[in-house]
Amino acid sequence: MPRLPTVEEVWPTVPRTRRRSLSEWKRLNREIERCRRCPLGSLRQHVVIHRGSLRPRVLFVGEAPGASEDRVGVPFVGVAGKRLDQLVSRLGLLESEFAVVNVIKCHPPANRFSDEAARACRPFLARQVEFLQPIMIVPLGVSALSAFRPDLLPISHAAGWLSRWRGLLFFPMIHPAAAARSTALRRRWEHDGKSLSKVLSRLGAVGNPGSIPRPGASV
Ligand code: SF4
Repeated sequence: MPRLPTVEEVWPTVPRTRRRSLSEWKRLNREIERCRRCPLGSLRQHVVIHRGSLRPRVLFVGEAPGASEDRVGVPFVGVAGKRLDQLVSRLGLLESEFAVVNVIKCHPPANRFSDEAARACRPFLARQVEFLQPIMIVPLGVSALSAFRPDLLPISHAAGWLSRWRGLLFFPMIHPAAAARSTALRRRWEHDGKSLSKVLSRLGAVGNPGSIPRPGASV
């Protein structure tokens, strides 16, 4: 098995002025669809790659597909997905302004997050971020946070705080599935959602595609 890359080797300083082509995106998707780099590749029904815009302002990054996502090949379509959609709606983000991906592209049995799969999948996530060129990344849950910034753990401290990461805005939140586990976590999800709404409003980043100068992407 080839040596897996370190975080530093994989994460680019996202070149937000780079021109992109749809064929590049399709090539990446084909590579992910064919991938058997870790054991999850032979267990999946569908690989789960992306939903939403190819020019998002906000990129939500979940942890791994659940059983519902595995059945249809689309991220966040189950119960957690509904909660995320409600947040997106409250934020006022247009369809063209957000996208959703996962750290791991194949469903892990019993929803058990696999660090091995996360390491093997990391180059795909890096290329997705590089291609999509969001202005903000919102990692959802501890494993998504640790894929980008393990230095900010634990998620209970990092969630709801705005920082910068490699030239992008970075706003971690707890996983939407966690918000169903207790009243305290549901309140935390809602509170942090309001904070995110304020941040995006201050930036003029929602419902107003012309408000923030965008790099000259061709997609
Ligand atoms: S989880 Fe990622 S690395 Fe593993 S087989 Fe699926 S696409 Fe490949």
